[in-house]
Parts: sequence; C-alpha cells; structure tokens
Amino acid sequence: MNEKASNNHSNSKDFQPARQYSRAQQLVNNLPYAAMTVLGAAIFVTGFERSIWGWAAASAYLIYSVAGAFWIMIFMCPYCERWNTMSCPCGYSRIAARLRQKSDSSRFKEKFKKHIPVIVPLWFIPILAGVPGVVRSFSWPLFVLLVLFALVAFVVLPLFSKRHSCSDCPQKDSCPWMGRKG
Ligand code: SF4
Repeated sequence: MNEKASNNHSNSKDFQPARQYSRAQQLVNNLPYAAMTVLGAAIFVTGFERSIWGWAAASAYLIYSVAGAFWIMIFMCPYCERWNTMSCPCGYSRIAARLRQKSDSSRFKEKFKKHIPVIVPLWFIPILAGVPGVVRSFSWPLFVLLVLFALVAFVVLPLFSKRHSCSDCPQKDSCPWMGRKG
C-alpha cells in the first residue's frame, strides 16, 4: 500500500485493515472471470457451428467482457476503500489508480448499484444464446460448454468473490449484496 492510499484509508471512518494480496494471488483470482469469458465465447462459436456469426458474436462477447472490467475500474474502483492498494483481490485497484483519481468512498454503495448491472448480462448472454441451440438439436460439445459455463459463472466465481472479496471487505456493511444477505 502506498503512502497516499494509506492516508486515504486512515482518513476514512469506515476503513478497517484488509488482507493484502500478492500479484500472483491477484492473477489467480482473475482466472474464474477469464474462464467464464473464454467459455462464453466458445459457446457462441460452437452454438453457431463455427460460422462467421459465431466468431463475430464470440469476439463481441470477449470485447464486452474486457470493456466490463475496465468499466468497473473506471466507474466503481475509484470509490472503493481498496483503491490503489494491494488489498484489492483482483488487482483492478492498481489499474484504476492509473485511470482515475480517488473519489468519495461514502458513495461506493450508490456506484455499486449503478454500475454492476452493466456487467451482469455477461453471466446470461451465453446461456440465452446456447440453450436454444441445444434444445433444437442436441450437441454434446455445446451441452458440456454450457454446463462448464454455468459452473464457473454461478458457483466458482461467487465462491471466489465471497472468499476473497466480500468476507474481508472494509465496505461490506455498505454493500448492497452483503447488506441484502444480512
Ligand atoms: S475491491 Fe472491487 S471495487 Fe474495490 S478496487 Fe478492487 S475491484 Fe475495485
């Protein structure tokens, strides 16, 4: 954690010390999102029988996934207590610090609610595109890809989030997801 970030944190009444992540851990924590992206793209390619439309849809999905990550870094991370620290489990905070200045952490909940819906379709578009194909004419490769995608998107990713992000997050009391569970 650099001095600037440390000062930001010590100035915040909500901040509690959070776990620090090495770069290797941050890299590993990005793997489920990367796996979901690759599986989602593979669903488009397989579902559209490797046609030009399948590759185009897969490319669009990959671009959306990367753009979604940057959207979070630009519009949400600057409001996070973990901005520019190694306590961000996925390392977005360090990239965010190069893109935007720190903003008011008390607005994190508002920003979370506003910007998370931007990336939510990433979890559903491949399923909506792939399931009709499997129903119309069953194919094992597409079926297996759909099952793997659902496992990564709805089991592995939430588990990683819960284990590495939510449980020790200094802002969990103001988080709409954690608050709702509470
Ligand atoms: S914990 Fe989440 S919101 Fe906070 S800096 Fe990391 S990616 Fe951004």
